Amino acid sequence: MKPKRVLVKFSGEALAGSSGFGIEPEVIKYIAGEIKSLAIAGVETGIVIGGGNIIRGVSASQGGIIKRTSGDHMGMLATVINAIALKEALEHFGLNVRVQSAIKMEAICETFIMGRAIRHLQKGRAVIFAAGTGNPFFTTDTAATLRAVEIEADMIIKATKVNGVYDKDPNKFEGAKLLSTLSYDDALRDDIKVMDDTSIALAKDNKLPIVVCNMFEPGNLAKIIVDGDLSGCSIVK
Ligand code: UDP
Repeated sequence: MKPKRVLVKFSGEALAGSSGFGIEPEVIKYIAGEIKSLAIAGVETGIVIGGGNIIRGVSASQGGIIKRTSGDHMGMLATVINAIALKEALEHFGLNVRVQSAIKMEAICETFIMGRAIRHLQKGRAVIFAAGTGNPFFTTDTAATLRAVEIEADMIIKATKVNGVYDKDPNKFEGAKLLSTLSYDDALRDDIKVMDDTSIALAKDNKLPIVVCNMFEPGNLAKIIVDGDLSGCSIVK
């Protein structure tokens, strides 16, 4: 059955494309095109985008000058930069979009208000949730799961560069098998790398299914979400 409302999470790293840093216009255009197909199908779409293409708190604080908390603030601001870029790209495709930030910056975008976000979604606007949870020591995976639970999304889609969760590292082991379904406990026990433990635990507590899929396969998001065809990806539930 086609879900009514979803939350799609992209990592910031994906935006960098081949250059490895910043925002590659072709990539953001591609992502916007994939999201557009959901909007056309009438799926209410929330989006969280990471900031790893610009800066992460952990790496910023490695030199011993920048405190981890400050580094995390920088990382959260990086997600706002990406959110603004994605908003522009989505608007280019004719979508109505709002950015809501967990950290107040009213000259740039709305502040996150759950009820208002839901109203936007009901009116057919895509909502990009920026600035993570607004707190250091978290990731945008956790922010995405939190927002998904708050807006009562039917599922969270972790759109990555791999097809899903494998029984062993496919980069290291030939014959690694893609797992079509695994439980939250399996995911936590096996320490899967595609989602962090905090986000999986939050999803488990709220029975929120996590779909892990390849974002670089054109049409994959629509195939999974609109057509309900989960072949070639993994679901944690
Ligand atoms: N971050 C944070 N709190 C949050 C979400 C993110 O402090 O709730 C910071 C953290 O430093 C993180 C950075 O923002 O490294 C960028 O987010 P993330 O690493 O999740 O981005 P992604 O890997 O998805 O690109």
